Amino acid sequence: MAKIEEYIPIVGESVVEDLRLLAARLKGKVIQHVNSTAVGGGVAEILNRLVPLLRELGVDTRWDLMKGGGTFFEVTKKFHNALHSRPCEITQKDFDIFLETSRENIEEVVIYGDIVFIHDPQPIALVDKKKDNKWLWRCHIDISNPNTEVWDFLRNFVVKYDAAVFSSPTFSQKLPIRQFLISPSIDPLSDKNKELPQEVIDSVLEKYNIPKDKPLITQISRFDRLKDPIGVIEAYQQVKRYIDCQLLLAGGGATDDPEGVQVLEETKERAKGDSDIHILLLPQNDIEINALQRASTIIVQKSLKEGFGLTVAEALWKAKPVVASHVGGIPLQIKNKYSGLLCHSVEGAAFGIKQLLNSPDYAKKLGQNGREHIKNNYLLTRHLRDYMLLFLSAYYDEDVVHL
Ligand code: UDP
Repeated sequence: MAKIEEYIPIVGESVVEDLRLLAARLKGKVIQHVNSTAVGGGVAEILNRLVPLLRELGVDTRWDLMKGGGTFFEVTKKFHNALHSRPCEITQKDFDIFLETSRENIEEVVIYGDIVFIHDPQPIALVDKKKDNKWLWRCHIDISNPNTEVWDFLRNFVVKYDAAVFSSPTFSQKLPIRQFLISPSIDPLSDKNKELPQEVIDSVLEKYNIPKDKPLITQISRFDRLKDPIGVIEAYQQVKRYIDCQLLLAGGGATDDPEGVQVLEETKERAKGDSDIHILLLPQNDIEINALQRASTIIVQKSLKEGFGLTVAEALWKAKPVVASHVGGIPLQIKNKYSGLLCHSVEGAAFGIKQLLNSPDYAKKLGQNGREHIKNNYLLTRHLRDYMLLFLSAYYDEDVVHL
């Protein structure tokens, strides 16, 4: 795993020096992260890198998981969909199941952090254990237009926190607590994003029987309806009428996402009969994802809702031309026609893909601009700085930490 010095050639010495200064101010404080899955999805992706680097900087940072069974995660997936304004029926039983598992976790999860950093709705009720420590709620999802029943229910917990953190200004809510805007990030030196030799890329293509004779359009995502895999297939089919190309839909599961198997089946069904569509259910393997992104001609992220969309940042960092939906945090990363193309529909996605396949120089320029934009705004070092400032600000009023 990369050490903090190794980021200097990418972001410059002063950035790393600032991180050290901030970390020194947090000496003696314990930061405790809690979320609901160690693998799969953007939250685990970020914590896997952020936690070791904060520790290396000298900030005592730990990461705990809450526990939940299948029924609980079915309910929280319903909440997730409802917060993303997908129509779904939520019953009193769902709220009861949520509260029951929350009660078990309140009993079982040991809270020791001076700062307790709770990620997303699943462990939100742990705040009932709040004593004189600081509690932060980190919302990674797009709640610009939430189902009010679910949001009102969760809001009862949110207001007990000291502060809430959102990824995009459009997600902020009317709350009596402080709110912070902190965008997620990618780690340029992780296995997911580091440079790869061409032989490694080729061997992954070979392993999955993906030929190199046609342009490759790729979406890497969990099999989730909000990632719209069917819409991606429809866009590809519209492109395919004019340009011979192939499509790759690749993703693994997340332990807190029970819908994946069904969505994967629906996607396979829709792709039936076209040998140029590759659908891969991948084990967690960052080098393989990295290789597939690098091997692609165009990366697509046709989400219907998106908290941030780390896959967009990962693709842009690799200087790939990206066609992605104008939803959630994606427009923070893609300035239309400058660092990628934004779309609002299947037709829009198909139009963007065709345009990029027909104009490789333009596609290349968008990819290069995209990489620069990610470098300036969405690398892990910026995220570490923002989080440390957030932790320090939690004590601002109490005069415990002198900035
Ligand atoms: N990812 C992965 N394997 C997969 C599918 C996704 O490692 O099979 C990673 C992907 O590269 C990204 C993260 O999971 O780093 C997904 O984050 P994103 O913000 O795009 O979406 P989320 O899953 O959190 O909704």
